[in-house]
Amino acid sequence: MSEIKSITSVPTTELKGKRVIVRCDFNVQVFEGKIMDDLRVRKTLPTIQFLRDAGARVILISHIESKDGTGLKPVCEYINETYTKECGVVTFVSDFQSEDAASTIANMKDGEITLIENLRIDAREKSNDIEFAKLLASYADIYVNDAFAVSHRAHASVVGLPALFPNARYAGIQLMNELDHLKVTFNAPHPFVFILGGAKFETKLPLIQKFAQADSILLGGALLNDILKAKGYNVGKSLVSSGVDTAGAKIDFTPIIENPKLIIPDDVIVSGILPDGTIRTSTKLISEVGDEDMIMDVGPSMNTKLTEVIQNAKFILWNGPMGNYEKGFKDQTIEMAKLVSMACSRLDAPVRAVLGGGDTTAAMIELGLEDQSDKGNDAMFISTGGGAMLEYLLNESLPGVEVLRE
Ligand code: ADP
Ligand code: MG
Repeated sequence: MSEIKSITSVPTTELKGKRVIVRCDFNVQVFEGKIMDDLRVRKTLPTIQFLRDAGARVILISHIESKDGTGLKPVCEYINETYTKECGVVTFVSDFQSEDAASTIANMKDGEITLIENLRIDAREKSNDIEFAKLLASYADIYVNDAFAVSHRAHASVVGLPALFPNARYAGIQLMNELDHLKVTFNAPHPFVFILGGAKFETKLPLIQKFAQADSILLGGALLNDILKAKGYNVGKSLVSSGVDTAGAKIDFTPIIENPKLIIPDDVIVSGILPDGTIRTSTKLISEVGDEDMIMDVGPSMNTKLTEVIQNAKFILWNGPMGNYEKGFKDQTIEMAKLVSMACSRLDAPVRAVLGGGDTTAAMIELGLEDQSDKGNDAMFISTGGGAMLEYLLNESLPGVEVLRE
């Protein structure tokens, strides 16, 4: 199979004056015009700066799913306020089909950057429409994908567009970084600890099957509720999956619950309604969960059970929170984040950890920890992908990555 080339493999002399269209992931949260978390923007800066230094004319494209429909303008303003050193002044193009867009791009000078409005305002982005891809392609000479988190989507800017750039399609620096770190998982050193949380058992089941050979498998979050139920415990009013897989077949939990490597906590944090209607949170043994209880987080026993396992690990893969993070049940996810980061900072026991998913990353940010792989610290890699990470781990490829091969 042919390889995927990084944009950094192109001599800078060949980039000078070229129009390079870069698929970014600027799908950040915007609240009242303010950017809440710019991790994804920051992760694209090395690629942007590389192209700019080479004298390329850089056209940034992205989608954004903001609740109030504000589009990418606030992101452009934010970049212009925050990253002048890296990006200079970014010109915003609000209507990507207009004469104005074409002339703005045609008049760009070497090293200048343009950001085009949210691609998803055009339905043809999601439907991978060829005419839409051709319109975007008409603006550029070279295509770069630096949006790992959307590379599992067969959308126009991810799949249709690069297909129109034979011999001129590349992976951006962050995309390459993601692939390099995530592929360690496919030949992970042992002991290998696999931690999976969050919800939707049916979508995560294939991953549990794929990594059944890990030395310890820890299931938390709402996934744990399914396990407890399958083991015959009462889970009360807790969130459980439909019990059928994505193909519509009944899930057989037996191989999972009988796997001797499976680790589950002895206790859980439940939220229950008292007879007078008040809501109370308490820690209960898994055998004591009542009909009115809702399991919201794993209990503190999980941490105790895991300390040694994590300390001895050579590789840790973690995706998904231990509890209902957005409802405030963060404690055990934060504890887990502390355990993993401590293991990674111990110089005497080289361990590598690969983490991802929205809530998992949020827990790391809350602890003031971030991915330092671009600074040469490879011990702990925090992926920018959620769904894309899971799909890449499962299939060892993604549509938006495969199309970059020559
Ligand atoms: P991520 O956002 O990290 O990619 P997922 O989307 O798979 O992970 O899972 C996150 C979801 O799982 C969140 O909505 C979270 O609140 C939910 N969740 C985790 N534990 C529980 C629980 N015990 N009960 C209900 N929901 C839970
Ligand atoms: Mg999620």
